[in-house]
Amino acid sequence: MSGYRGRFAPTPSGPLHFGSLVAALASFLDARHAGGEWLLRIEDVDPPRCPPGTSETIRRQLETYGLHWDGEIRYQHARDVAYQAALERLAETGLAYPCSCSRKEWRDYPIYPGWCRDGLRHPHRPVAWRLRTDRGPRPVGWQDRLFGEQRFDPVDFGDVVLKRKEGLWAYQLAVVVDDADQGITDVVRGVDLLDNTPWQLQLQAALGMATPRYLHLPLIVAANGQKLSKQNLAPALPTAPGAVNRWLHEALIALEQQPPTTLREAPVAEQLAHAIARWDPARLRAQKHHRMPRP
Ligand code: GLU
Repeated sequence: MSGYRGRFAPTPSGPLHFGSLVAALASFLDARHAGGEWLLRIEDVDPPRCPPGTSETIRRQLETYGLHWDGEIRYQHARDVAYQAALERLAETGLAYPCSCSRKEWRDYPIYPGWCRDGLRHPHRPVAWRLRTDRGPRPVGWQDRLFGEQRFDPVDFGDVVLKRKEGLWAYQLAVVVDDADQGITDVVRGVDLLDNTPWQLQLQAALGMATPRYLHLPLIVAANGQKLSKQNLAPALPTAPGAVNRWLHEALIALEQQPPTTLREAPVAEQLAHAIARWDPARLRAQKHHRMPRP
């Protein structure tokens, strides 16, 4: 084992689409090329957004595309105790605070103005918990494997919510706790999460956790130029035998891996073995937007 440990961490709000295939594939190839492990974590902290059965669909989709993960699947819905412990630690050190403000009250501000930092504005309302960005290390920076040197002041992004009023855990806290708990060394994910990373670095520092390496991937856009997402109804990955092979080939093209055309119809295991051996993230172009294939 190489000591490399990667993960794919989908939110099961809908089935995987071409953009998610590209992200899963890149993190898989990066891990396997390094001789490392690749884990699957289902980020189901927000049950109302996760239709029943979607995790199962995602598992089947990954298997159909030959993306086999190591070990047990981690489900975030079962991680309440760990997230609570992390939140308490942050609260004790003054890095998390309860907030009673409603979104409506600060709608004229670009970010939450921090009104509850020094005491609740509305003591009788239910509270959310926020990160106190002005007290964490700042600025924060990392060397992104694709986008290069990054440097941000988390204060500019605002005091992000860590636990919602309804008691649901927010992505920022859950992702940091689980990446550390699972010993993740390398995060490979979409560039849409690049501007979430500053909060995650602050949380890692505050909780005494190691910071993994980050590789943010170019965005995949639909034919109309829009980001592919479940919200704008990107089609689910096809599962019909011929289509699977072609879509995997297209995903390798989207990642600039120059798969040989002769492998376009080849079984997924064969395409993947070829791609693992030749995986080279230096071929990725930060600016490249790839159009998704037609089914
Ligand atoms: N769960 C997040 C998503 O589906 C990804 C988390 C991550 O890779 O850090 O967009």
